[in-house]
Amino acid sequence: MQSVDRTLQVLQSDLCEVLLTDIQIQDRVRQLGQQISTDYQDSEPYLVVILNGAFLFVADLVRYIDLPVELGFMAVSSYGDSTRSTGTVRIVKDLQKDILGREVLIVEDIVDTGLTLTYLRGMLSGRQPRTLRTVSLLSKPACRQVQVPIEYCGFEIPDKFVVGYGLDFMQRYRNLPCIGVMDPTKAAAQENHT
Ligand code: 5GP
Repeated sequence: MQSVDRTLQVLQSDLCEVLLTDIQIQDRVRQLGQQISTDYQDSEPYLVVILNGAFLFVADLVRYIDLPVELGFMAVSSYGDSTRSTGTVRIVKDLQKDILGREVLIVEDIVDTGLTLTYLRGMLSGRQPRTLRTVSLLSKPACRQVQVPIEYCGFEIPDKFVVGYGLDFMQRYRNLPCIGVMDPTKAAAQENHT
């Protein structure tokens, strides 16, 4: 356990600011789970988890949902530089199951420009679920290029590139329990190193 703590401390020292502590995140995820349990009473929602960033969020969220749930996983890749998407989305891994007539809830890590979620909603609604909603842990409203509904939003955050709790920078920092802003000097050093 000690070496895990040390690794996390080293990773956390690459942040210039902690935006959300693990306690704040857990409190909010519990509230979201309770709200979803109330809203989907008597049904069995199908959670469409968008990999990779949402893996920690969904792991905690489902444990706060007091209903039978089914999980399906999708992976998308958006073409763009390392810190901003372009909205050109490619499905890397699709669902294994039909969602026709199901109560579908998309589970996202963060909505930034809104382009990825807009694409996903359009594509999934074409498969004719009974309902289609989104739960996103984070949203950056100032960055929105297209307006897209987020029925369940964890936190609205400023226009800053964040890592931790599933979110990465160059595939690192996903295992941080908090969410923080990358130190730009450390980010630049890592980009130059590759
Ligand atoms: P959008 O299409 O809304 O601009 O971007 C959605 C995707 O961009 C997210 O699912 C995430 O993968 C990535 N992204 C957007 N903002 C951030 C951020 O601040 N940090 C990280 N790690 N990824 C982000």
